[in-house]
Amino acid sequence: MTRPPHGGLHLSATSETLDPQDWNEIRAHGHRMLDDMIDYIAGIRERPVWQPIPEAARAPFREALPRQGSDLAEVYRDFTDFIVPYATGNVHPGFMGWVHGGGSPVGMLAEMLAAGLNANLGGRDHMPIEVERQIVEWTRQMFGFPNGASGIFVTGTSMANLMAVLVARTCALGKSSRQRGIGEAGSLLTAYTSRAAHGCISKAMDIAGLGSDALRCIAVDGNHRIDVDALRAQIARDRAAGLDPFLVVASAGTVDIGAIDDLQAIAELCREQELWFHVDGAFGALAVLAPDLAPRLAGIEHAGSIALDFHKWGQVPYDAGFLLVREGERHREAFAAPAAYLRRETRGLAAGSHWPCDYGPDLSRGFRALKTWFTLKTYGADRLGAVIARCCALASHLESLILAEPRLELLAPVGLNIVCFRYRTEHADRVNGEIVVSLQESGIAAPSTTVLDGRLAIRAAIVNHRTDICDIERLVAAVLEFGARRSSAAPGEDAQFARSQPIAV
Ligand SMILES: *Cc1c(COP(=O)(O)O)cnc(C)c1O
Repeated sequence: MTRPPHGGLHLSATSETLDPQDWNEIRAHGHRMLDDMIDYIAGIRERPVWQPIPEAARAPFREALPRQGSDLAEVYRDFTDFIVPYATGNVHPGFMGWVHGGGSPVGMLAEMLAAGLNANLGGRDHMPIEVERQIVEWTRQMFGFPNGASGIFVTGTSMANLMAVLVARTCALGKSSRQRGIGEAGSLLTAYTSRAAHGCISKAMDIAGLGSDALRCIAVDGNHRIDVDALRAQIARDRAAGLDPFLVVASAGTVDIGAIDDLQAIAELCREQELWFHVDGAFGALAVLAPDLAPRLAGIEHAGSIALDFHKWGQVPYDAGFLLVREGERHREAFAAPAAYLRRETRGLAAGSHWPCDYGPDLSRGFRALKTWFTLKTYGADRLGAVIARCCALASHLESLILAEPRLELLAPVGLNIVCFRYRTEHADRVNGEIVVSLQESGIAAPSTTVLDGRLAIRAAIVNHRTDICDIERLVAAVLEFGARRSSAAPGEDAQFARSQPIAV
């Protein structure tokens, strides 16, 4: 027996690697998983969009930490029995809630390949970084940004918007604010967005240390576009009060109804007032890929930065948020930080600066670029643009069905891919809220709700490339059916109604 070299740690003779003893066995498991997942996507229409999770399905996920391993086949069975049937449903063409992308089989395969490479995209000189740079370049071209623009994959637009606020903050206060803190000058910084903007903008102001009170939410017009005159007037009032306006966040596709602000007018205002112009284009920005929709985004090419999600209308599997910044130098000023262990070289693995870690808070990062690259290469930007245009055409179709149906009421103009409507009845807020729950529990369709002018709306956001006319018609038929049943039922009655009496549509 040899003495253990340190602290009693033994080196056993048998290999402790996590790799299998028998590669053929894991290969067989892998092939089966792949086949099952392809079958799942191919047969998605036969499934309910979503279904309530029984307690028995949650129980296996409340176990103690497993000290001993189990067979892969057993673990996989838990996945197929308890996870797959109770997913969100956004792969399904009947999913119309919030703004969720549908993903694609190509994206799924690319995710598997990325996991095999296990690349860390914080930095260093390896080909996966070049793939991310390729996407930065393609995105730069999509939006007509100049050479020298920078970009980075992040989790989602919430993070991209936060990072844009940080870039704008450092630009306004100077790079030394990263050492000194935001101080007195920071307390005067004031930002602007519309009342229809996504809540993550306010959260970004809070996290950036500027406070959500320093965000002015400007009134919108009847089409939910920011009132540019009111914006200009508020900036003037704030300057007169000694505050320091620094940032305007415009929306290219508001989350409630899909409105696009007048980006051209805001670009001009920002230029004249020397304000950072950021666009929250979470889903709407990619409408530049659809030739008929692109003119609606005119002015976006003047933005200082754009946040967008490839995981929404880009159909890339979660997550694939993205931040594009017009001047890479500004972007790096907000995030690059030297460290001895991240020293750059001109040759070897530490070559190839600038690295992605110079463009955001993350050091270790996954290979989100690969699934995006596969998606763009395999389908092509035009085909993705056609999917986006088709989603809007389906939304128009839904709008026309609603306008032709006296029992339904349209609650907002349909400018893009989002339709807000409701069933006309007494106690309409309660009844329409119940209709949406019944729709979700029935598995027929999964819209969500929003509140417009104090009125609860059924909100259908058409984002999924699989959604078709039949899904729109099923949604309308089911709303009418549940509406008729609900408006004759007493409040709180029949919580199980939807499931106990399935309706045929
Ligand atoms: C979805 C969305 C966000 C948030 O993006 P995440 O990717 O969910 O973080 C922000 N703004 C708008 C307009 C959105 O639609």
